Amino acid sequence: MKAFDYHRAETVDDAVGQARRGARYYAGGTNLFDLMKRGVEDPGALVDIGSLPLDTVRSTDSGGVLIGALVSNSAVANHPLVRTSYPLLSQAILSGATAQIRNMATVGGNLLQRTRCPYFMDPAFGACNKRVPGSGCAARVGFNREHALFGASPHCVAVHPSDLAVALAAHDAVVHLHGPAGARALPIAEFFALPGERPERDTTVAAGELITGVELPASPYGAHSWYLKVRDRHSYAFALVSVAVGLHIDDGVVTSAAVVLGGVAAIPWRVPAAEAELVGQAPGPHTFAAAARAAVTDAQPLPQNGFKVTLAANSVVRALTRAAGRSQLRS
Ligand code: SF4
Repeated sequence: MKAFDYHRAETVDDAVGQARRGARYYAGGTNLFDLMKRGVEDPGALVDIGSLPLDTVRSTDSGGVLIGALVSNSAVANHPLVRTSYPLLSQAILSGATAQIRNMATVGGNLLQRTRCPYFMDPAFGACNKRVPGSGCAARVGFNREHALFGASPHCVAVHPSDLAVALAAHDAVVHLHGPAGARALPIAEFFALPGERPERDTTVAAGELITGVELPASPYGAHSWYLKVRDRHSYAFALVSVAVGLHIDDGVVTSAAVVLGGVAAIPWRVPAAEAELVGQAPGPHTFAAAARAAVTDAQPLPQNGFKVTLAANSVVRALTRAAGRSQLRS
């Protein structure tokens, strides 16, 4: 690892000021330090934001919840407000990493973690547009079993590794940012960036902006939600496919729905076409099968990951079945 300057921020403005001068934020360090040790990233300066007062979870006046950017993944997953009103979020977080990593990793850092594409993670490979813009994409012609089904570009087919982000997308979360131009609130649907011509950019966060918190509106899905993660081994592995679903069921009919796929794109992949198949219908196998078909209609598999199309469709059915619960199902 290369030497770097270190500064511990006392305030949010202090941190942003350091970032304006080129320093990188770090808190838990669970991803950034790995990348620095591997030589994937080599920031000349780090600003430690771990002491900033962004470490609380509280309810909002509008019935939602505001989670500070520095709250650990474990604390979010186990918080009574989250467990009661957003069990989908709790489930998604607890499916990720290990207990030790979840104790260190923060909400803000989780959203900013980088792809685990093996060509990105190993500088010995020369061709990776995300790591070295303009160098090519080794995964396009190489190992791409774990890569994207949706939203890829000729320049990058990587997927985002976060479980938390998939659940936040299902809840229409809003990310609060503070930067050189002041504060702003960014819907999670606009937070992540598809690779397009600039795969080196994972998000739409501007230079120097700091995530200060994530706000979730009141959820209609508390009673009927599920996060399903499918991976090569049962623990400490990233998703081949994951599915976050939420259903609001009134008098035996789905009145609103959220269906978001993870592990299949550079962003949490929300599927309005699948949600449209659910709304106005009675929950049951036929409805869920129609939603699953709609969820994968636009898939564009790579040479090695065609199996993920079937896996995603089957996972949607399974997640919806678990979310609806037996008492709600009609054949
Ligand atoms: Fe790099 Fe993206 Fe290609 Fe992976 S898929 S090698 S991250 S450009």
